[in-house]
Amino acid sequence: MSRLTTPDIDANRSVWIESGAGDSAGPSVPLSPLSPLEGETTADVAIIGGGFTGISTAYHMSRRFPEKRIVLLEARSLANGASGRNGGQMLNWIAGIEPSDPELAQRIYSATKGGIDGIEDIIREHRLRVRYRRDGCLQVITDARRAESAHARVEELNSWGIPVRFVRGAELATYLRPEGAVGAILDSSEGQLHGVDFIEGLRPVLAAQGVAIHEGSPVTSIREGSTITLTTPLGEVRAKAIVLATNGYTPRLGYFKTGVFPLHSHMLATEPLAAEQWAALGWGRASGFADDLDRIAYGALTPGGQLIFGGGSNASYSYLWGNRTQYPGSPETAARSFEAIRRQLTRYFPGTAALRITHRWTGTLGLTMSRVCSMGVRGEHRNVYYALGYSGHGVTLANLAGRVLCDIYSGDDARWRGLPFYQRELGGIPPEPFRWIGYHVYTRLTGRSPRKVEGKR
Ligand SMILES: Cc1cc2nc3c(=O)[nH]c(=O)nc-3n(C[C@H](O)[C@H](O)[C@H](O)COP(=O)(O)OP(=O)(O)OC[C@H]3O[C@@H](n4cnc5c(N)ncnc54)[C@H](O)[C@@H]3O)c2cc1C
Repeated sequence: MSRLTTPDIDANRSVWIESGAGDSAGPSVPLSPLSPLEGETTADVAIIGGGFTGISTAYHMSRRFPEKRIVLLEARSLANGASGRNGGQMLNWIAGIEPSDPELAQRIYSATKGGIDGIEDIIREHRLRVRYRRDGCLQVITDARRAESAHARVEELNSWGIPVRFVRGAELATYLRPEGAVGAILDSSEGQLHGVDFIEGLRPVLAAQGVAIHEGSPVTSIREGSTITLTTPLGEVRAKAIVLATNGYTPRLGYFKTGVFPLHSHMLATEPLAAEQWAALGWGRASGFADDLDRIAYGALTPGGQLIFGGGSNASYSYLWGNRTQYPGSPETAARSFEAIRRQLTRYFPGTAALRITHRWTGTLGLTMSRVCSMGVRGEHRNVYYALGYSGHGVTLANLAGRVLCDIYSGDDARWRGLPFYQRELGGIPPEPFRWIGYHVYTRLTGRSPRKVEGKR
């Protein structure tokens, strides 16, 4: 039995949640809150968490098994977690894995590209009003030696049939002109997803497919058995199977405490500018970019013309004692984080120094020691499904998770077996106080997040 303390979840203050982030193609009216769970109910599958993992699992399960009763419980509101607060980049690959053999590389690439295609298919099939673009993300290389090896890696991937490109000079400048960039790896199949649009757009689709969604329904205890009992403040669900779709929040549920830790990541958004103004400041036709440094900096242009930017230094990420997921944001610590992010933004795009910052927010990532995520099923009765630990790659992977979990649930999962996330064992994160001390000492000494380096797979 896992008993939880009061949910520790702050409100989403990101640019995505505000109507000002968008353009006329997006949803115009915010949806009204869904009622909390009240009283007792039963389910074949009860999903905890209303981000990409929970929503994609509800979508695929209710499509494949229309006769099953699926209940989704969200502590606050759909897309309140990282799925509604992120950098928006739909990326290929699995964080933590750099395959050295062609077969694995092709499998991973085709799985993640299939994940991005799957998001687009859903938008098209249900004619969702979702702002997204698919004109490529860049990994910017900031050092000549690393650019040489990135170029060689691109050629190797091309020889395996993977269509990424190495761009530099005048061609790079048509996409992006960050100061200090020597070159970049461009993947034109990647793009940007407005996560709040996507999740809100799917709400009526899920309702039509029979999924019962309850917002304001934090799960406060989980009693495992052949039937699992989930308790919320006003109700109870007795379910044959549950899905932990809580990524960075999962250790607070009593699961994966040594496997995942919540890393708070800060982002900011500038005032909106027109496309020509951004082009003058150095932003061309890229959906988004990340750099090649240990404390990754990343940025993207929203559909409403705001540059969002995060990372770039230790100060832009933090770990809070005891896996806390609500960022207290004392003015001093938060101000330091946002100043550090702003400095990094100005380093890459000096012309942004004069721009007004309209939004500052924090979100909870689920980080694993190897950076590789895991998707599978566990528990004495093999009825606790989970997908988590995407380590900053969850826009694609958490949306793919719904398909993977649905296939595992139905026993039809051959196509996922052997992929690095499939039933992957997670571990290696020490208990407190070593976790907190370890994180802070390690980041200060090395400038990186703690990480166990594994052999290439
Ligand atoms: C600042 C930031 C930038 C990022 N940028 C990118 C990017 O550009 N590209 C990329 O691929 N990834 C990015 N990520 C990561 C990506 O957003 C996540 O991996 C992904 O959204 C995880 O989705 P999820 O559904 O698993 O978790 P979440 O979206 O966090 O959803 C979990 C949900 O569970 C709910 N919950 C928690 N506890 C309970 C409970 N007890 N009862 C009921 N509900 C509960 C929460 O309220 C939350 O809504 C970023 C993350 C952050 C924070």
